[in-house]
Amino acid sequence: MELNKIDTGISTKEMILNIVLYKEDPNYPTVYRYFRRQEMPKQPIVERIKNFNEVALGFEPDQAIMEASRCLQCQDPQCRRGCPVGINITSFCGYVREGNFDKAISVIRESNSLPAICGRVCPQESQCEAYCAMGQTGSPLAIGALERFLADYELKKGITMPSIAPITGKKVAVIGSGPAGLTVAGDLAKLGHIVSIFEALHTPGGVLAYGIPEFRLPKSIVAAEVDYVKRLGAKLETNMVIGKIFTIDELVEMGYQAIFLGTGAGSPYFLSISGENLNGVYSANEFLTRCNLMKSYLFPEYDTPLIVGKEVVVIGGGNVTMDSARTALRLGVEKVHVVYRRSEQEMPARREEVLNAKDEGILFNFLTYPLRLIGNSRGWVEKVECGMMELCEPDETGRRRPVPIPNHSFTIDAQTVIIAIGQGPNPLLSKVTKDLETDRDGRFIADEWGRTSKRGIWSGGDVATGWADATVINAMGTGKRAASSIHQFLTTGQW
Ligand code: FAD
Ligand code: SF4
Repeated sequence: MELNKIDTGISTKEMILNIVLYKEDPNYPTVYRYFRRQEMPKQPIVERIKNFNEVALGFEPDQAIMEASRCLQCQDPQCRRGCPVGINITSFCGYVREGNFDKAISVIRESNSLPAICGRVCPQESQCEAYCAMGQTGSPLAIGALERFLADYELKKGITMPSIAPITGKKVAVIGSGPAGLTVAGDLAKLGHIVSIFEALHTPGGVLAYGIPEFRLPKSIVAAEVDYVKRLGAKLETNMVIGKIFTIDELVEMGYQAIFLGTGAGSPYFLSISGENLNGVYSANEFLTRCNLMKSYLFPEYDTPLIVGKEVVVIGGGNVTMDSARTALRLGVEKVHVVYRRSEQEMPARREEVLNAKDEGILFNFLTYPLRLIGNSRGWVEKVECGMMELCEPDETGRRRPVPIPNHSFTIDAQTVIIAIGQGPNPLLSKVTKDLETDRDGRFIADEWGRTSKRGIWSGGDVATGWADATVINAMGTGKRAASSIHQFLTTGQW
């Protein structure tokens, strides 16, 4: 690759930062940093709205080397602090710059069992990349895209398995196979413990499998990463609803010395407005599960159709809303409207996904909320009546509180309405397990190591308390800490 021939396109700010850094360390090859942030190529918009294939296409090797060359190799790198599983980002970027992709991915694997997933769905802009020193120039290193590149490189070539500690004979049960459970299982299997994962659904992966659509996270990637955890030694049993088939106390009687609850937040919230029980009204969970797990987009090849009509309204403002809206579009809908009660600035969805949705033609109604759903004489939804909001003082979440404006209403035609306003834990396990404390939302109360109120039981991910955002990498971070606490408990007896 001839670096000098490439249009660098960097900003003046970046140029100044390079000169300053060059003065501090004249040995550092500053020429490598004279490149703008590399962007992943994407499927053209006109094509991608008609298919479920992945939108972002990943770096080419030259692009990855150029991007990694922008890394400043800071002495005290902050980016690692922004990663909940603590990947040594400067180290792996150093290897990518040298073209040593094998070594680079081995650095990532030391901390992360699911890099192809994280490289695709982590909200890097508010995690590792938010702490990158290059962010001062307005274009932080594309850490997630580099991680994805390396993970895909390794998947194509075949994963090199790490060494596994000798079998300890200690048995651990992991309930739920989402990112939290998979992380606990992978870390403990590597340490030689006998790990069994129990999953309620017929497919493992949690939200990665049933929630996040194929065009953002292909199921083959999820399957490959689950397979890696199995190859580390974890046993996986699907169709096992714990709380029904076995209780937690029965698992203890069966010889499991430690149990991790990573059962997620799969019970959708509803609006409690009139018309919610009309035909054509879905929770985002049901809508996405039908599409992802039951492959309704391949009807009649698969026998679960999703009849969506010409216009769809999706209510909410997070990643789940964006995924539902973009899925509906790909099912052939003419117009998809998002109804969100705050402004675009307050939307919790990843910025990249909001921009993708806008590019694809999703129509956004900000400062709008549903008043009621109106049906026809056959009981099918036909319209959504909406009111308008204005923003007042910030509430306890720090976001400005929306307040209805009186006498402002309008209707949107819709043959399908998808409610994506959040979800909470399923109460099954807390109901049937004694001495397991929950908060008022039904989340297991756990300390920073995931220890619950019941000795020998840990919890993490979306079903537990004690962390801020419901993200894949936060769930994995809680899993990592719980695994280290479980290991200590199994080896020293210390709770
Ligand atoms: P889950 O992924 O929910 O997995 C829990 C598993 O436990 C499930 O498989 C469930 O079937 C199983 N289970 C439940 N009860 C039982 C039981 N009794 N017995 C056995 N098994 C049980 N985060 C991001 O970082 N980036 C994104 O882009 C993003 N997009 C998202 C899009 C959607 C549509 C959704 C719904 C969420 C998204 N999130 C995203 C959030 C993220 O996916 C979650 O925070 C994360 O998956 C939580 O992981 P978890 O392991 O705690 O739970
Ligand atoms: Fe960043 Fe996520 Fe990778 Fe950590 S796992 S380095 S937060 S993209």
